[in-house]
Amino acid sequence: MLLSITTTHEPASDLSYLLHKHPDRFQSFNLSFGNAHVFYPTVSQEQCTACLLLDVDPVGMVRGKGHHQSFLLDQYVNDRPYVASSFMSVALSQVLGSALNGRCKDRPELVSTPLPLTVQIAVLPVRGGEELIREIFEPLGYEVAIESYPLDELFPDWGESPCYTVTLTGTKTLAELLNHLYVLIPVFDNRKHYFVGENELEKLLEKGAGWLADHPLKDQISRRYLKYKPSLYLTALARLVEETETEETELENESEETAEDLPDKAVPLNQQRLGSVMAALRASGAQSVLDLGCGEGKLLCELLADRQFEQIVGLDISVRSLEIAAKRLKLNRLPERQAQRVKLLHGSLTYRDRRLEGFDTAALVEVIEHLDPPRLAALERMLFEFARPKTIVLTTPNREYNVMWETLPADQLRHADHRFEWTRTEFQTWATGIADQFGYSVRFLPVGPEDKAVGAPTQMGVFELKSHTDT
Ligand code: SAH
Repeated sequence: MLLSITTTHEPASDLSYLLHKHPDRFQSFNLSFGNAHVFYPTVSQEQCTACLLLDVDPVGMVRGKGHHQSFLLDQYVNDRPYVASSFMSVALSQVLGSALNGRCKDRPELVSTPLPLTVQIAVLPVRGGEELIREIFEPLGYEVAIESYPLDELFPDWGESPCYTVTLTGTKTLAELLNHLYVLIPVFDNRKHYFVGENELEKLLEKGAGWLADHPLKDQISRRYLKYKPSLYLTALARLVEETETEETELENESEETAEDLPDKAVPLNQQRLGSVMAALRASGAQSVLDLGCGEGKLLCELLADRQFEQIVGLDISVRSLEIAAKRLKLNRLPERQAQRVKLLHGSLTYRDRRLEGFDTAALVEVIEHLDPPRLAALERMLFEFARPKTIVLTTPNREYNVMWETLPADQLRHADHRFEWTRTEFQTWATGIADQFGYSVRFLPVGPEDKAVGAPTQMGVFELKSHTDT
């Protein structure tokens, strides 16, 4: 795989100072996965081109590395020697580290000088096609030229290869260009060769400093770079969000809009609800707890503050809510012991999810009314049949109470996204049916000020697995 960088800045040979590589020499470097070579095919006053050629040795990489699993052909025969992948990022940092980090001993003023640069990557494996290449590089101010290839010239029907030769042209400092490449090359490939850990997150934030937070595809870039590790990805997003100050205020403004102001505003209803849910969770004796449909993470914060709960998992379908939750929990700044107690998962409550099995208890606070009836049936199975925690604490609005809110027109639901709101009888009929069907018992508690005629604003059901209570 070959990366070439060309400048027409004069004198063009300045590029060699920035790269810390002598223009007259062919230099080779031994890396853990093969060799890297740096050479200059063109050096003149007007134009200078430097090449980084990477020679990956797929056999050498696995030999003697303690791979005890059965023989995998893929380890030996794969595309790694021929495409620009995360190996290229490693080579950039090991061979061109000074340039990447913006250091230049001999000509320090060059570091901050934007130069007319053209970089060609041959070849870049891309999951997402030409469109993704443009969507990623164009917002960074590059002109993008893409050359595509047939998968096999003999079989045109097979269509196009996912590998492209990509040429980017722009006026950038060399460090900017190299940092973009460092982060983005592995993002296209979407397959990483080395372990993704804390360190990777630090690298992403460091190399993405100053440009990633404003990139329209920052979510996708972070997720792919961190290879779909939700916890790392969410921490990354939380920290990127912190970088953009304008978004700071959104946390305040974006919380759920609701008609639920209580007549006597002493303690807001959502706080009373949290209090009741926390009390039920504590009383269950649970040590591991799921907050399903955790939203912006208010309950998670309360759980984290109580040491009874050793393992806390929040799940939501909304990435935006999870970002806010990560921020509210200060996930990126928690001491390690605390951070280990809490995890955020992106997922849906309507699919079986093995990550949710084996917990003592689950809370679903104001969630079921957000699901269409057929989805609710899917949630019932996923929760009561598969995840099957010993205790389930579930709240939902009591529709009867809506008349107490003068500002809420008759027949209107409390929140625009609610699919239904149940009367007490409707909720209790549903809950009792489900409990019977799946072997749970259930009891009901009012939450908030109780009116004689219409009951309390929120209704809570606490389900307990029967085999659990019997033993
Ligand atoms: N429990 C939180 C949020 C309630 S709002 C609180 O009390 O503040 C309902 C939440 O359920 C939203 O965050 C929404 O994104 C989430 N949700 C809706 N449908 C979902 C689904 N199918 N899977 C997971 N989460 C879902």
